[in-house]
Amino acid sequence: MTTFSFEFFPPKTPPGEQRLWEAIRRIELLRPDFVSVTYGAGGTSRDRTVALTRRIAEETTLRPVAHLTAVGHSVAELRHIIGQYADAGIRDVLALRGDPPGDPKGTWTPHPKGLTYAYELVELVRSLGDFRIGVAAFPEKHPRSADWQTCIRHFVAKCRAGADYAITQMFFHVEDYLRLRDAVAAAGCDIPIIPEIMPATDHRQIARFAELSDAAFPDHLARRLHAARDTPHDGHRIGVEYATAMAERLLAEGAPGLHYITLNKSTAAPDIHRNVLSLHSAGILNAG
Ligand code: FAD
Repeated sequence: MTTFSFEFFPPKTPPGEQRLWEAIRRIELLRPDFVSVTYGAGGTSRDRTVALTRRIAEETTLRPVAHLTAVGHSVAELRHIIGQYADAGIRDVLALRGDPPGDPKGTWTPHPKGLTYAYELVELVRSLGDFRIGVAAFPEKHPRSADWQTCIRHFVAKCRAGADYAITQMFFHVEDYLRLRDAVAAAGCDIPIIPEIMPATDHRQIARFAELSDAAFPDHLARRLHAARDTPHDGHRIGVEYATAMAERLLAEGAPGLHYITLNKSTAAPDIHRNVLSLHSAGILNAG
């Protein structure tokens, strides 16, 4: 079954909260298979993740997936958070190592009583109950991995530790996803790897994407978004068109689903999804 899902982050301000809930309610109408809530680098944003994930579980028809990272947590704290999710009936966790707070590219130092790698968090969640566990995958190699083969080996180990599926880092070239999927399959691992779709609709986002990931951004798309810098409507159309074409090709190549980044907005990601659904219902995607 092809899954469609959307990702939110916990907002910091009341207007941000209002915008998020408008987006959640609109996306709920699209009946996604699940929605996920990212986990902050530290402090109060983490409490907001737990509260938002619980509220989605309690007040909507959506199935929430809680992102959880090992950053700054002892094993006892991680157990406690996972227990809070279980109490709220949440059985879906995306188990991540996370990055050092402050400087994501800085030296990784585990909590003295914590975990070092995501596979250990997968094992911990697995040991605590009947959870559906997701992990992160990197179509362009994780920046800390020495090389591609090492990255694939560690990814496969994470799956063997008990992951049920993976969601990728954002990427903008379909070939990068296909290369990852084929390498993982060749290593004997067959969990579904769901590609993440990041709508790029504004040229100012490009620098932020580079901070968040090492995903190579296509020059031609950057040029078109830059040319549309004074006409947001055109930027939106260009970004939605590009992401729709990627999504269409990914599904035609057999991707098991699509995970859309929403940036807590109810515009670009749902527009891409509606395009994908209309291609689906017209049978265009299944035609290969
Ligand atoms: P790991 O799988 O532990 O990998 C980290 C590095 O260690 C890799 O280079 C890997 O090759 C290496 N490694 C793994 N195992 C071993 C081993 N046994 N020996 C030596 N090296 C090893 N971050 C957040 O803070 N909050 C979020 O909500 C969040 N959501 C995300 C969602 C998705 C879909 C993705 C793709 C990423 C997300 N991230 C989030 C970012 C993620 O936490 C970082 O990319 C982090 O650097 C890697 O996490 P991981 O779970 O892949 O770590």
